[in-house]
Amino acid sequence: MADMGREECRLRTEEINKHPQREGKGEKKYRLYSKSKLPASDYVINPYTGCVHGCLYCYACFMGRFTGHDQPWGTYAEPKKYNSMKLPVRQEGKTILVGSVTDAYQPVEARFCQMPRILECLRTYRGHVEILTKSNLILRDLELLKQIPDISVGVSLGLCSGRDAEALEPRASGIRERLDTLKTLHDNGIPTYLFVAPYFPGITNLRRLTEWSKGFADFVGVENLNLRGGYKAKVMAFIGERHPDLLPLYRQIYEKGGGAAYWKEVEAELEETEKEMEIPFVSYLYHEKIRK
Ligand code: SF4
Repeated sequence: MADMGREECRLRTEEINKHPQREGKGEKKYRLYSKSKLPASDYVINPYTGCVHGCLYCYACFMGRFTGHDQPWGTYAEPKKYNSMKLPVRQEGKTILVGSVTDAYQPVEARFCQMPRILECLRTYRGHVEILTKSNLILRDLELLKQIPDISVGVSLGLCSGRDAEALEPRASGIRERLDTLKTLHDNGIPTYLFVAPYFPGITNLRRLTEWSKGFADFVGVENLNLRGGYKAKVMAFIGERHPDLLPLYRQIYEKGGGAAYWKEVEAELEETEKEMEIPFVSYLYHEKIRK
């Protein structure tokens, strides 16, 4: 796998920013939100089709099938044109999640500015607003975020090594930038959480990530790495190349049915770390079983 350096990433991002609109997509118009199929949220808002963060493990990579894109995932992002900015009628007690299959603050957002308009709408939302991102671009909208009555922002970070992060999440903000983002949000009174996602077996260092974010994350959420899509081969190739010593473990978890036992061990690690570090943990390790 080619090792993509930061400079190369920046240049590729600039290139994508020049040509984010792809041909043949017509003038499809969207409603601002849709009903959520995810645990712990009722509605979702995804301001783009596609995500140029291009994470190798992205479970949303199948979305191109539904939006008519045949380009590789991570190479396109189109701002949605909305025909309605109406919020759901039922709001009390309902969570609306921004960024379930695309990162709302991916690099093209600097150019298209979808989020300020969306945040303006969300100022009147009477339920809970949650935003999940891997980008420090969210800080651009700090003043708007502060005006939303019930909000929390999660910053996803599951890797401690810049080398791994650059290969797996090539155009997301760097590790330091993400931690600084969390701190700045927290210092400005925005409820925050660290989202350790995905938890990479043998690679994710839960204690270290918790330590790094201590004092500016209200809780730590943890989600396991799922390898159920066409991206499995790419992730396994990454492990084989960068962490060959872990290949037997990955085969055991993802090919030989050893997943349940492994994640049970991680669950125990979560409980220990929670006690030790005195910060609440929320487990999404059995994601598919969680229902709001
Ligand atoms: S930031 Fe999220 S949506 Fe975007 S490519 Fe990465 S995992 Fe997928």
